[in-house]
Amino acid sequence: MGTAVEGTVRGMFTCEVCDLSSPFTYYGQKPPNTRAIVLLEECFVMKDPFSPDKERFLILGSKCSLCNKDVCVGTDCSLFYTKRFCLPCVRQHLDQFPQQVQSELAKKKPVQKTS
Ligand SMILES: [Zn+2]
Ligand SMILES: [Zn+2]
Repeated sequence: MGTAVEGTVRGMFTCEVCDLSSPFTYYGQKPPNTRAIVLLEECFVMKDPFSPDKERFLILGSKCSLCNKDVCVGTDCSLFYTKRFCLPCVRQHLDQFPQQVQSELAKKKPVQKTS
């Protein structure tokens, strides 16, 4: 009853690749009420609404380090290789990624453009 400040919704996160959208309660690298967790990147985070445990949270997405678009962490939308990249950017700069990333991506289907 008004005490769960850490669960306050800050806004809506919308993935610009798949259009998934969800409210988020925190954006940054160190979610509140987590003791030892520091994320590798600044993320959109939502307190896990299904868990009474305050330290449980869900990572929704992050910003692409190249185009700065909001992208979800779904493997069809982005990948993390030292930084977050959306898949459209990865495809555009594929030759600059290591072989491992290139072969990972070759396994994925191309993004369906819905117009
Ligand atoms: Zn997405
Ligand atoms: Zn991008």
